[in-house]
Amino acid sequence: MPTPSPQPATPAIGTFLNASFPCPVCTQTERRVVSNRGRNQQVLTTVICTSCGLVHSHPMPTREELDAFYTSSYRLSYKSSF
Ligand SMILES: [Zn+2]
Repeated sequence: MPTPSPQPATPAIGTFLNASFPCPVCTQTERRVVSNRGRNQQVLTTVICTSCGLVHSHPMPTREELDAFYTSSYRLSYKSSF
């Protein structure tokens, strides 16, 4: 039986984190993990700002990562088409 690939470490749901950048809404840095998996069970950490409630991916994707995702993966992942 093959050994499963090790999964990247992900913070547990409910863990408090200090983000490396201020919240774009309220400027605070404390976040709390609300999810550590995406819709297809891939590793994706989602946090909530404990001050204002803004929810975002953690870490925030770079402009280049967003461009690559929306150019090559978005339609297949979310629309089941190319
Ligand atoms: Zn905030």
